[in-house]
Amino acid sequence: MHFELKARRMINVSKPIIGKEEIEAVVSVMESGMIVQGPKTAQLEEVFAKYCGTKYAIAVNSGTAALHAGLYALRISQGDEVITSPFTFVASANAILMQNAKVVFADISENDFSLDPEEVKKKITDKTKAILPIDLYGQVYDYESMKVIAEKHNLKIVEDACQAIGAEYKGLKAGHFGDVSAFSLYATKNIMSGEGGMITTNDEELMEKCKRFRHHGQSEKTRYEYWDIGYNYRMTDMSAAIGLVQLTKVEELNEKRRLHARMLTEGLSGIKGLILPTVGENRRHVFHQYTIRITEEFETSREQLIDFLNGHGIGSAIYYPKPLHLHSHFSELGYKEGDFPVAEKLAKQVLSLPVHPSLTAEEIRCIIDKVQEYAT
Ligand SMILES: *Cc1c(COP(=O)(O)O)cnc(C)c1O
Repeated sequence: MHFELKARRMINVSKPIIGKEEIEAVVSVMESGMIVQGPKTAQLEEVFAKYCGTKYAIAVNSGTAALHAGLYALRISQGDEVITSPFTFVASANAILMQNAKVVFADISENDFSLDPEEVKKKITDKTKAILPIDLYGQVYDYESMKVIAEKHNLKIVEDACQAIGAEYKGLKAGHFGDVSAFSLYATKNIMSGEGGMITTNDEELMEKCKRFRHHGQSEKTRYEYWDIGYNYRMTDMSAAIGLVQLTKVEELNEKRRLHARMLTEGLSGIKGLILPTVGENRRHVFHQYTIRITEEFETSREQLIDFLNGHGIGSAIYYPKPLHLHSHFSELGYKEGDFPVAEKLAKQVLSLPVHPSLTAEEIRCIIDKVQEYAT
């Protein structure tokens, strides 16, 4: 049976959820006149920490700012090395450069697209200060193995949880798996505040440092007393108000993503040359992306499949087409093609299909049907 969409509207790969509650929340902040970091931001921090189960949450204006503040709070600076993945959004590694530290890439694992603990071990030197693993596509990284390595070598962990709000490992939520963890509330993330970011930590001193860093180096109690360099990384109360509404929907939105992922996996299994995403043991995957791999055994190339889907109104995207070490500002550090064979291979194979909460069951069936039709 073939499913055609009734209306010829495009099935986009991502779509922000903006309900009337979000709109009303913004309007009411604007009417209050208190639009910059204020009561709504404080409330978001409280509710966010409660949701993640951490002692503290600090609001900033992007996920990149969250990563940067976290690295700063851990005193990562010039001469230090931080190990991260070459297969992630560029901000994960740029944040390390922002602290003038050295980006040391290690290859990833095929199972979860995240840092391979065995590869991380090979990259540790006496200058290594931290590991920055990414909860890529919405699944917590291999925490248990990384924790053993970090403890043995006295390293800090910065968890990039930008794609993983609500993801779990052994019942604990993302945000628990770093000395500091960073979230993004960018428009297309699982929940959003327009632009925005959050830091979680259980350490009071790190929390204070992050708060000072986002506010020109001032403590919130003593204005015009500057402790250190700082930035303007503050969140507006309009954004915080959106974030607060979105946080009330996070479970529902994530459950929809998880349902859509199950439907896609059921419908696409058994197609020659396609490798479907797997969920690791003890993990709750929140499917920020539903990413398949198109291997050499597949009927045609990835690019031809993308064109075919596009022609039928189905969007898809490659996250990420070129590993970070091959971009000029990182290859300058001495990296070259062939350094990270798994990341390089996966960059040529991955394709993310629509999985977002606004999809209808009919649209999911249409995606499955078109891929199947193409493959057979
Ligand atoms: C989105 C994202 C970021 C950056 O977040 P912004 O809010 O866009 O600054 C960092 N790391 C990863 C893995 C992301 O997906």
